[in-house]
Amino acid sequence: MPLIQNLSGVVIRCFKSVEHCADWMTGAAGPVFVFMCWSLILSGGFIYFDVVVRTLSPFSLFLLLPLLIFVPLNLYGQYYLVTHVPPGYPAPKPSGEDKNKSKWLIQNPKSIWSGERWGFKKRGRSLTGMSNSYGGGSSERRVRRCRKCDGPKPERTHHCSVCKRCVLQMDHHCPWINACVGLHNQRHFVLFMAWLSTGCTTVCITGYHHFLATFDYHAEWTAITPKLGFTLIFVLCLAIGFAVSILMLWHLYMVSYGETSIESHDNAYLAGKAKKEGLIYLNPYDLGKRRNLQLFFNIGPNGYSPYTLLFPLALPPASNGWSFSRRPIPSHPPTKSANLHAPELADGLIARANGLGLGLGLEGELGVHEGEVSPIGGHAEDGMGGYVMGDEEGLTDDEEGGGGWMDLGDPQYRMDDDR
Ligand SMILES: [Zn+2]
Ligand SMILES: [Zn+2]
Repeated sequence: MPLIQNLSGVVIRCFKSVEHCADWMTGAAGPVFVFMCWSLILSGGFIYFDVVVRTLSPFSLFLLLPLLIFVPLNLYGQYYLVTHVPPGYPAPKPSGEDKNKSKWLIQNPKSIWSGERWGFKKRGRSLTGMSNSYGGGSSERRVRRCRKCDGPKPERTHHCSVCKRCVLQMDHHCPWINACVGLHNQRHFVLFMAWLSTGCTTVCITGYHHFLATFDYHAEWTAITPKLGFTLIFVLCLAIGFAVSILMLWHLYMVSYGETSIESHDNAYLAGKAKKEGLIYLNPYDLGKRRNLQLFFNIGPNGYSPYTLLFPLALPPASNGWSFSRRPIPSHPPTKSANLHAPELADGLIARANGLGLGLGLEGELGVHEGEVSPIGGHAEDGMGGYVMGDEEGLTDDEEGGGGWMDLGDPQYRMDDDR
């Protein structure tokens, strides 16, 4: 037995060192990826203007003008922002200063990237530091501790093993921007993908005839770019445009359900776990598609104008990263029309309720009154169905959260409720 234990220890250590090696390589290759990305988008833009735009008729030029202005502006602007705005961290880096990075997190209204400078004002007070629907919120002075960097780990924060620190509302580590995608820069990340898809689509549609001409030896070719250069850029636009569009739609889909990439894995796992217990899993941050999208882009009633989506502007996120708006637990059994992640679960619940001779909306007969529903989890007795919310103890799949709890007495960890 000790032999097996020792062997498994060796295997685990091997895996860990491979993992560390991969993390190190991702970090080291980051600048190369960013350089490649800049080279591609800059040369793509130049070649498109050189080959296609200069041959356009005045009328087509007029029609395409909005795209010719907004695509390059946002493509380069959003890429600059996504690589310069840090994702946001719950604590300062243990060694060294974060001064250069923090200038992006503290919005300077005089900065050229600031929405205020261009006349975009925030409409309402931000939703931060409040609306933790079960009484936690800013009064809560206890927060999880990260067992890897020993710092505070607010809800939705994860530790990035490439950046070697905790990241607020972490989505994933992206080598193409050589940084984590998190609370402060994910808006730029999604918008960059959106403008890149738009740009690639424009190149593919309007450059199609020029692409065909590159195979025709007799075709007239007045551009500075050689034919092969355009062939390459066109094929790249086709491939990248296709891949990035799908990635962008997938991100928008997750955003519309109020989850990050990491949470989408966790939520799928938790939904399965809840299903086995006859419960319906609810993502606590899912406030409905429209509201989720508004909060993500920080537009709408409490945010900025939707026109800010058209410009590369560094806007503050809707949350301060320490507390987030949460949905309430429904006080009645779900109906078929309920907008749930797993409608089949709702069907199961309805069937079960009906099997007991109970119709829909008869909470009284079920013996479940509004007051009796726990604000945290709507566990119904005897497998009768009910709701369970994401962060209830026992259901939370927080493997990284094994660092226990810490007090927030230290002023450096004070929550910034005014933002
Ligand atoms: Zn950490
Ligand atoms: Zn990272």
